Amino acid sequence: MRLEAADKDYAIVGAIPVDAAGITYIYGRQSCDTRSTEGGDIDAGNAQFAGQEAMIIFEDVFIPNEHVFLDGEVEFASTLVERFTCYHRRSYVCKTGVGDVLIGAAATIADYNGVERASHIRDKLVEMTHLNETIYGTGIAASHQGIKMKSGAFLPDEMLANVCKHHVTRLPYEIGRLAQDLAGGLMVTLPSERELRHEKIGPMIEKYLKGRAEIATEDRIRILRLVENMTLGRNAVGYLTESMHGAGSPQAQRIQIARSMQIELKKELAKALAGISSTTRAEIENDLSTYMARVFAPVTN
Ligand SMILES: Cc1cc2nc3c(=O)[nH]c(=O)nc-3n(C[C@H](O)[C@H](O)[C@H](O)COP(=O)(O)OP(=O)(O)OC[C@H]3O[C@@H](n4cnc5c(N)ncnc54)[C@H](O)[C@@H]3O)c2cc1C
Repeated sequence: MRLEAADKDYAIVGAIPVDAAGITYIYGRQSCDTRSTEGGDIDAGNAQFAGQEAMIIFEDVFIPNEHVFLDGEVEFASTLVERFTCYHRRSYVCKTGVGDVLIGAAATIADYNGVERASHIRDKLVEMTHLNETIYGTGIAASHQGIKMKSGAFLPDEMLANVCKHHVTRLPYEIGRLAQDLAGGLMVTLPSERELRHEKIGPMIEKYLKGRAEIATEDRIRILRLVENMTLGRNAVGYLTESMHGAGSPQAQRIQIARSMQIELKKELAKALAGISSTTRAEIENDLSTYMARVFAPVTN
């Protein structure tokens, strides 16, 4: 929604310390979060890292004037949001680092299962890599085509930043699907670490969940738990749902892509080549250079 004059009470931007008076944080729950409190380090999937979210309530929080950046000036609200989202949507290229780990986990379980050389397994690893690098490419390109602002700061290319984030709303889900395909159903049917450590049950698990002879059963379990953690557990919060909604839900990017897609100019180019329009080559070149000048010119205000 664009803010209108009647919404000016909501056009507020300011900076505050995280522990300012009047702020309440209500800690959020995450999928499988209590596994981190059970002891052991296998069932959490990733015993070292996890995210956290909170519901944050502001009640009569004082912001000193020098930390107020917008106070009811609705005419600047949409520009501020669009510029902010250029940075935020481009920054979602970070999900490709997580993707690299998930591709590595999928390749490892295929190796531990003794099937890594099968052609469909290789092809799925290639597909996962292709999807991941597609996100990476648009993120890097958004910065490479960034423009220098009057302040000296660089603003990423708006179209490419939105395309980067839009890929992020979709491609990690497909990468996660392929990782689950390679992992097998065991990733969600495995017994717990407590059973693995059990005097009587543990040796049975060791024996019957053995993959390749030279790979420890515990290592096979650990890598399966990591795939579970990243696609269904605590780290799926960041890798999947945050990829979907963080920096705006998919439709928010489609709106920005629609605004910047220059469809009339593209129609003009097609019609000229098809011999439909009477637009001259010189006119088209002029339109194109005006467009390029607008896209690549430094922002002046
Ligand atoms: C894990 C996680 C971490 C996050 N971290 C941060 C953070 O650090 N800082 C921060 O500021 N935010 C953060 N966010 C919030 C994020 O910016 C919002 O989730 C996002 O903007 C979507 O808003 P929403 O969740 O309220 O969904 P909604 O806006 O309710 O969207 C749900 C659906 O409704 C549709 N919809 C919404 N409005 C309309 C409309 N007017 N007309 C038609 N359809 C509509 C959407 O397209 C979408 O399909 C985080 C979110 C997640 C999931």
